[in-house]
Amino acid sequence: MQALAAFTRARLGTPSQSPFGSAVVETATGRLVVRRLNAVRQENDPSSHAEVRTMRAACKRLGRPSLAGHTLYTTCEPCPMCMAMALWAGVDRVVFGATIDDAARHCAQIHVPSVELTRRSDMDCVVSGPVARAECVALFEEPRMAAAMALWKKSRRNPPAGTPGLAPRKPKGP
Ligand SMILES: [Zn+2]
Repeated sequence: MQALAAFTRARLGTPSQSPFGSAVVETATGRLVVRRLNAVRQENDPSSHAEVRTMRAACKRLGRPSLAGHTLYTTCEPCPMCMAMALWAGVDRVVFGATIDDAARHCAQIHVPSVELTRRSDMDCVVSGPVARAECVALFEEPRMAAAMALWKKSRRNPPAGTPGLAPRKPKGP
């Protein structure tokens, strides 16, 4: 996890910066298969979370749709989309750094713990975390990242007129 946090930190200040990094590793040997960052903005794809990109790339590299025998590391607890994909992919174990609550201090989150998805599924997957939480939380708090995330948060709430696909957020409730 320290290596993944360092990989993610090394890209802060670059156009691909993100506090969300992920890696797929062979469980038995610890061999790194692939690692990726979140690229939602670069790819204009709301599903381009670090974990989704990493698992897709790992499956392509391995030439099969299963990641059995592999562990998914991620700098932040997986969202329900990513955790569901980890379950469908059959990863042995998910290890996360920062928690969903940690991330929610910086950006919108869906507050369903990854262990809850595992518990409600028919698949077996060990979820471990938080691990190296301080290093992973620091990725969100790094000044360049915090400034970028504050801008993104603002642009989601108040998108410039005519921005396609970014409707102003409607207040919840009746
Ligand atoms: Zn996700």
